[in-house]
Amino acid sequence: MKQRIGISFTIPREPTFNNYWKWFTAEDLKDNLELVELSFEKNNTEDIDTCDGFIMSGGIDIEPSFYHSNADYENAPDAFLKERDLFEKKIFEYSQLHHLPLLGICRGMQLVNVLQGGKLIQDLGLSNSIHKKGEEDKEHEVMVNDDSLLKKITNASSGKVNSAHHQALDKNALGKNLKPSAYSVTEDKTIEGIEFNNKSGKGFMLCVQWHPERMKGKDESPFSKNIKQKFLEEIRKNKMEKLSVINPATEEVIAVINEDTKDSMAEKFKLLKKAQPAWAATSVSERVECIKKFVELIEKNKDELAITLTKEMGKPLQQSYNELNGAKTKIQFFIDNSEKWLKEEWIATEGATKEKIVYEPLGVIANISAWNYPYLVAINVMIPALIGGNAVFYKPSEYTVLTGMHIQKMLYEAGVHEHCFELAIGKGSVGAALLELPLNGYFFTGSYKTGKFIAGQIAHKLVPCQLELGGKDPLYVMDDVEDIEKVAAAALEGVIYNNGQSCCAIERIYVQEKVYDAFVNSYVEQAKKLVVGNPLDKTTEIGAVSRKEQVDFLLDQIDDAKKKGATVLHGGKKVDGKGYFIEPAVLVNVNHDMKIMTEESFGPVTGIQKVKNDEEAIALMQDTEYGLTAAVYSKNYERAEKIMKELNTGTVYWNCCDRVSAALPWSGRKHSGVGSTLSYQGIRIFVQPKAYHIRG
Ligand code: NAD
Repeated sequence: MKQRIGISFTIPREPTFNNYWKWFTAEDLKDNLELVELSFEKNNTEDIDTCDGFIMSGGIDIEPSFYHSNADYENAPDAFLKERDLFEKKIFEYSQLHHLPLLGICRGMQLVNVLQGGKLIQDLGLSNSIHKKGEEDKEHEVMVNDDSLLKKITNASSGKVNSAHHQALDKNALGKNLKPSAYSVTEDKTIEGIEFNNKSGKGFMLCVQWHPERMKGKDESPFSKNIKQKFLEEIRKNKMEKLSVINPATEEVIAVINEDTKDSMAEKFKLLKKAQPAWAATSVSERVECIKKFVELIEKNKDELAITLTKEMGKPLQQSYNELNGAKTKIQFFIDNSEKWLKEEWIATEGATKEKIVYEPLGVIANISAWNYPYLVAINVMIPALIGGNAVFYKPSEYTVLTGMHIQKMLYEAGVHEHCFELAIGKGSVGAALLELPLNGYFFTGSYKTGKFIAGQIAHKLVPCQLELGGKDPLYVMDDVEDIEKVAAAALEGVIYNNGQSCCAIERIYVQEKVYDAFVNSYVEQAKKLVVGNPLDKTTEIGAVSRKEQVDFLLDQIDDAKKKGATVLHGGKKVDGKGYFIEPAVLVNVNHDMKIMTEESFGPVTGIQKVKNDEEAIALMQDTEYGLTAAVYSKNYERAEKIMKELNTGTVYWNCCDRVSAALPWSGRKHSGVGSTLSYQGIRIFVQPKAYHIRG
């Protein structure tokens, strides 16, 4: 696995910025290092999370408002690049959060000072004759402080450096915890290097005012060569845990991202906590405006988002587009309804004591999420939580972390306050670390096993805990259905959509004996026509299942059923070649001794069981630990309703299945969960009521 050095620059790289690339020879990079372009123009913040160290490079003056000054000064550029400053601020913050090596060069050093609260001399005036670049860099002598890291690295007390700047650090306004490491040997003693004063708990950081990447004699000078070698040595020391994102259709690693640690999560929590009150102080309508922009950004970026989703999760591309469209529709519900449900309510306006209810945010909440619908399931939580004035610590699944990063980027671009939406990047252990932080609520979507663990771990905190868990959702076909082919098509779609990986996918089918044969024949005929293959192909109907282990898990369920007497009428085999593909499986002669009829499958497989009558169907549908959804197909609503009333599930469907409406509560019973999202309940769960008794 390659280690990566992120270098900030502005496009084009040629000629100036290319010096940074040329500075690193093939020998320097051999074995396992590579250089990564970090450009504010590309705004590729997601690449920051893949780097093991950073160079913040030289360039145009920092926008003066960053250090509370104005733009009216000698030699000021025609235009500043505020976006570059903001982008590099993210680089700096990321390096500090994860203690990653950082080299600040010229402007990079000035930015570090500014970000640490320091100021700049905006123009060196007479000293420009020594410092400011003309045709070429200037050269001058520097003195190195004895007690500095720079001295240890260069092993030199003085030496020649190049110079190409007209701004400098203000000696009287150095940033927090920074100290100078070198001065120019001139009357004004311009600061030529800075480092952390107290280095405990800090990663390697060295900043210099000169340009080691392009200085004359750079291969010999300790002010270039030694700095580079030390920086490389520090990068190679980095032992951050890495998360590999694998395309399930090709088994290729498509990204390698740094995982969060307990320390970085604790830091992020502090940032969330600090940022949340100002976010909560904005009005609901302002927050709704941000969310509207977020929807526009989903639309604007839909092609890139859909491709990312398909590549990391394996669903057919069209279904990725469908998910994005579904997300927009769901969010629209929150946009349209939040103000109504969050505004204060006057209960008593007459008499001596007036009474009202005010809805206040919970604070900082955890949104721990699953990978199967990373937009649809996550927005049930993050959108109403943000609109409600909360800050959100979002743990995307390790299988859809790139999508999680896209979501964060778009929310910030839409105007959600800085640090009100932080990501916890990593596997289950990172999710578990969230449980140790003092969050004000936990909202989880995932498996029963993890949900139960989370509920147990956080019970003592006495904060809201909501769980949206798995299912083993049944579909019952009554003997009075008219168009058996249509019903079979609907059932099949319910089974295989999203490669069978929907919490409310149809996982077992019961068919009344009178229509059983016709149903099974039609179902199998249609299943045979399904196109399994590359999810990026337009014709594909079933892509790859998302996780490698899932293929074996499904094969085991099929095997177990076969051993107990089931017949496989179609599919059920692993598809040869690369990728986690399984043929859709149709099993008959199944019963509840078989795992395929009782254990959540989460794949394009199902058993079809013959039943004598409604009573038997009800008994079998109820014979489950889960209680998410259940579907009944019949001509007669009264007959279907009788059954729907008896079923212990959060959702029931008549003549439809596998669907979610933002206007209706989404909730599971028994092992399918606790609490509900969506609908007006799903707006109110992210706020707490405060009762006002007003007498006077
Ligand atoms: P999962 O339980 O394995 O993981 C869910 C999330 O929890 C991931 O982000 C994971 O990293 C994190 N996690 C894992 N171990 C953890 C721990 N010990 N502490 C804290 N966090 C931990 O589930 P999954 O495989 O991502 O999702 C599939 C499951 O989700 C299925 O059972 C499916 O039915 C269910 N699901 C339910 C709904 C619903 O609305 N009811 C929606 C989607 C998915």
